[in-house]
Amino acid sequence: MSGDLAYKSILQSSALMKYIFETSAYPKEHEQLKLLRETTVQKCQENSEYIMNVPVDEAQFVSILLKIMNAKKTLEIGVFTGYSLLATALALPHDGKITAIDVNRKTYEIGLPFIQKAGMEHKIDFILGDALSVLNDLINDKHEDSFDYVFVDADKAEYIKYHELVLKLVKKGGIIAYDNTLYFGTVAMPEEDVKWDILRQNRKPLIEFNNFIANDSRLESAIVSIGDGVTLCRRL
Ligand code: SAM
Ligand code: CA
Repeated sequence: MSGDLAYKSILQSSALMKYIFETSAYPKEHEQLKLLRETTVQKCQENSEYIMNVPVDEAQFVSILLKIMNAKKTLEIGVFTGYSLLATALALPHDGKITAIDVNRKTYEIGLPFIQKAGMEHKIDFILGDALSVLNDLINDKHEDSFDYVFVDADKAEYIKYHELVLKLVKKGGIIAYDNTLYFGTVAMPEEDVKWDILRQNRKPLIEFNNFIANDSRLESAIVSIGDGVTLCRRL
């Protein structure tokens, strides 16, 4: 399979994946999302970092979810160049707000011109910092029980720690989406079959996280096998 597509889905059939992207996802992709995605591929070649943006079909799925929910106040943990951030901003109403956290502002600035051209910058409050510390600040700043939707996509080994804080921030009935929870399929592989160190490192914490969520009585949840796996949790 060509280019970034090979990394963009846990689907085992390349032909089916190509079909979904070409038939359904690419034709409806917003122009500025497309430009942001293509610029990310050009500017983030090192360690194939460009694969970190959510795939187009996942962004479109989340966009529909946000609209069904009438989400207005959202939180994103892990921005990178801002593909999922811009997709979220486009799905919110004009007075919607997204608090976006990342330890790296430089990558956010790669995507920022496209966010501006799409007329979405006013919805975004970018906070530079470590996610755990910013989440604690938000709790102390009286944002508890206030977010409609939270997208978690930063350090995979920290998902359980994010979870306790995010559960305080999301309102009852609100949704938390955890990205990459199937982790290239490695969560269902024996460790010796996992080829790359980075995959081996995060596989175990993600397996623990998935087990934790499956037994967490504070929420209902579903692993959706789109992209690299996204776990939707609805706070009870
Ligand atoms: N959500 C983005 C998208 O789909 O377009 C991709 C996010 S990328 C997978 C993960 C991001 O998390 C990186 O930009 C990285 O700098 C950030 N990150 C990693 N560890 C972090 C931490 N401890 N606190 C805040 N951000 C962190
Ligand atoms: Ca991701």
